Formats: sequence, C-alpha cells, structure tokens
Amino acid sequence: MDELKRCPFCGMIPRTEVTATRFSWDEYHIDFSVRCATCSIRKTVRLKIAKSVEFSDVDKAKILAINAWNQSVNVMKNREKLAQMRRKSFDL
Ligand SMILES: [Zn+2]
Repeated sequence: MDELKRCPFCGMIPRTEVTATRFSWDEYHIDFSVRCATCSIRKTVRLKIAKSVEFSDVDKAKILAINAWNQSVNVMKNREKLAQMRRKSFDL
C-alpha cells in the first residue's frame, strides 16, 4: 500500500477513520476517511457492501481512500509548482 502523504497545507500526518453503517437490511456502507484535524480537510471513500462487512472490505476502502487523498495532494502540489513557475516568469 502507498504511504499516506502529509497534509499539503500544514504538513501534519492526517488521521484515518472508518465507519460502517447498516444502510438497509441487505446493505452496509463503509466510509473510510483520511482527515487532517488541523485544517478540517477530508477525503472519504464509500463502499457499498451486501450482507456483512469483512475485514477485506475495510482494507479495500482504506487503500482507495489513501490513493484518493494522495492524488489530491499531488494535484495541489503541482498547482503550487505551476503558480511558482508563473510567478518566476513574471519576475524576469
Ligand atoms: Zn492540515
């Protein structure tokens, strides 16, 4: 599994949370969140599970949420790099 990236705003290691909710008689929702407590930003992945929740489902949700979080961090870092490049070009 990929390592969880730090928060792009404050540099803290985000927290991970998992909640399983029974949605109906034959459906559960697993929400796995990666959250920075300092900046109140969050990335959540929801998996719909039939019948019962297995540990493998929680692991799957965790991997998806961490990937989603890491992708967002990369996008933000790239934006920041672009902004810096633009600023540099204006300085010339
Ligand atoms: Zn943060």
